[in-house]
Amino acid sequence: MAEYSPNIIRVAVPSPLRRLFDYVVPQGSEQKDGDGRADVGCRVAVTFGRQEVVGLIVAKTNYSDIDIDKLKPINKLLDSVPLIPSSLFELFNWAANYYQFPIGDALFSTLPTLLRRGEGLPDLSTRYWQLTEKKSQINDEVFARAPNQQALFDRLKENGSVPDSIISAEFSRSALAALEKKGLVESTLRSDEGIELTNILKQDPLPLNDSQSRALNNIDQHRFNCYLLDGVTGSGKTEIYLQAIDTALRYGRQALVLIPEISLTPQTEERFRDRFNVPIVTLHSGLTDKQRLLAWTKAKTGAAKIILGTRSAIFTPLCDPGLIIIDEEHDQSYKQQEGFRYSARDLAVIRARREEIAIILGSATPSIESLRNCDLGRYKHLVLADRAGSAVQPDWSVIDLKSEQCEAGVSASTLLAIEQTISNGHQALVFLNRRGFAPAIICRQCGWTADCRSCDSRLTVHRARNRLICHHCEYQQRIPHLCPGCQSQQLVPVGEGTERSEEYLAKCFPTTKILRVDRDSTRKKGAMKAVYDTANSGEPCILIGTQMLAKGHHFPDVTLVAILDADSGIFSADFRGSERVAQLITQVSGRAGREKKPGKVILQTYCQEHPQMEELLKGDYESFVKKIIKDRASTKSPPFSFQIKLQAESFNGLQSRDFLVSCLDYLNNSQHLSKGMKIIGPLPSLMEKKSGVYRWEVSFFSSSRKSLHNLADHLQSYL
Ligand code: ADP
Ligand code: ZN
Ligand code: ZN
Repeated sequence: MAEYSPNIIRVAVPSPLRRLFDYVVPQGSEQKDGDGRADVGCRVAVTFGRQEVVGLIVAKTNYSDIDIDKLKPINKLLDSVPLIPSSLFELFNWAANYYQFPIGDALFSTLPTLLRRGEGLPDLSTRYWQLTEKKSQINDEVFARAPNQQALFDRLKENGSVPDSIISAEFSRSALAALEKKGLVESTLRSDEGIELTNILKQDPLPLNDSQSRALNNIDQHRFNCYLLDGVTGSGKTEIYLQAIDTALRYGRQALVLIPEISLTPQTEERFRDRFNVPIVTLHSGLTDKQRLLAWTKAKTGAAKIILGTRSAIFTPLCDPGLIIIDEEHDQSYKQQEGFRYSARDLAVIRARREEIAIILGSATPSIESLRNCDLGRYKHLVLADRAGSAVQPDWSVIDLKSEQCEAGVSASTLLAIEQTISNGHQALVFLNRRGFAPAIICRQCGWTADCRSCDSRLTVHRARNRLICHHCEYQQRIPHLCPGCQSQQLVPVGEGTERSEEYLAKCFPTTKILRVDRDSTRKKGAMKAVYDTANSGEPCILIGTQMLAKGHHFPDVTLVAILDADSGIFSADFRGSERVAQLITQVSGRAGREKKPGKVILQTYCQEHPQMEELLKGDYESFVKKIIKDRASTKSPPFSFQIKLQAESFNGLQSRDFLVSCLDYLNNSQHLSKGMKIIGPLPSLMEKKSGVYRWEVSFFSSSRKSLHNLADHLQSYL
């Protein structure tokens, strides 16, 4: 029986049930008004099953489907003010609705772990040390044999007060303890106050060139506007971000900056830290739980002024949001592909609109969706056509692999070009988007290949680790000596990955440093930093790596970029395949000649005559993309239509297929398929079997987003 009571709350709890649970807030357990109320966005401790769990209040209501006497009371209110501010809460609501995901799970999946466990927010006040009144009574002999104490004493005398963290970093704790024992120092707790507006910059901004000034002047930070900053690599987009942030800080606001991968691009973070005198926090997967909570709290309370983060940082609460920047907006890493699936870029635009602030999407290779939004007048298109400073666009040349032999993926002409680059004292970047030694191992005698037992894929040879590894499910085994099929010793690795090309280049250039960058080589902490240090030292070297090398790096001394395999991707079954290749190739080649030295790009291909490759070889992303947009318009693929994909997974392929068939039957019978909706499938997914699970899918296309959403709603209830 439905019941009414003024104190019912709907609570998200960590459970696989994908729904909310009602509890009552006992009379008198709340304060009357202001802080201390059980509001939406606060956490509560509740009994769930036999356990006490931490839940989050998602709604307040006076109605429940359950008998009021049977509703459990909450055990405790954990927050006196909402953890999630209401504007951000609205964003979660929107996302849960749009991406068809339960709001409770969405909220929980993005909250720092320690908060999910019920911990409180950390205290952000800082301990400061200063000298006591006794300081005037001491004479020189006090420190006669204690130089450390003397140094600390002098510093405190000079500075007045010094934060505890600086004392730990620069002085010895025992000196501090000694001074404290003598009654010479005392400490106080202070919360760090706002920044000094006159002292925001650590470093002067660069004088902008004409197109940069035009772009910056067009950015209006007083209201919502979305800007697509479309500038070739090296055109000075980052400089514009920095100057736009400067403006936001002067208005007393915070800036949220998303970048694809922080640990790979420590330089980006450094540039922000070098420019500004304000507290900056970074949010990425490499943080400990404690660090993450601290950064999150600083963003929420406004203690941090610049928040740099990867995808999930879009859900960080901000005290005074002023500006959002999405660097490399085309990057796939902004899409969360598992669990709570969302596009951080798209959510950022929604968030900016709700917060009524400006957002800048920057890229040298903008996504088709964003370009389309410019065409429709939704985004403002700001173009930087030339490289900033004195750098010019690189020269392109093609190597036709049909007429040239390769060894370990490297053609003789490419090898020669690398040799010239090195002997000129410059650096070369070799790009191969495949890690490991070789993508397959095969028996010459009987044709046996090492396949993954759980996926429709070959095992990759990792010779340095003596392992065969599946890149889809991480299954691994030792490399066999004998063929399991025919017992022969004729097992050979075929094809090449970065490891193999690296080995070959090392043989060809025994005295040159070779730096490999892929997910294997950068597993160790600080590995990427070591690569940077060598690259930035300017000594001639060869960088070889996967797409990790394509992302937003700045290697001033690289003058040659060699793309070993330009073909993979061109023939992809995904409708986004050609867009991705164009972006990747343009991004990689953008690493050549970023400063005063002119750059050169070499592209190895088997399919020079393929129409898409021909277009790409012109090195002109814009005209290439115009073609893709035309294709998409004529085939009515996104963004000219909307698409929902329904994927079924089970341990049996037929079961996955039958399930989708029954979904389609349901939709047909219940007349939820509107006219003009195109349906493709059920078909096996691109890799049908992955990690032992068989995946089938159906895609629905429609020109109406609304009718797809209706369809998804009905499906949800059916499921
Ligand atoms: P992007 O982000 O578009 O790749 P960056 O902002 O990193 O470009 O700029 C590329 C290089 O050009 C950097 O070394 C930067 O310091 C320099 N640069 C940017 N703007 C200017 C300018 N206005 N004058 C001189 N150099 C500039
Ligand atoms: Zn064999
Ligand atoms: Zn596998």
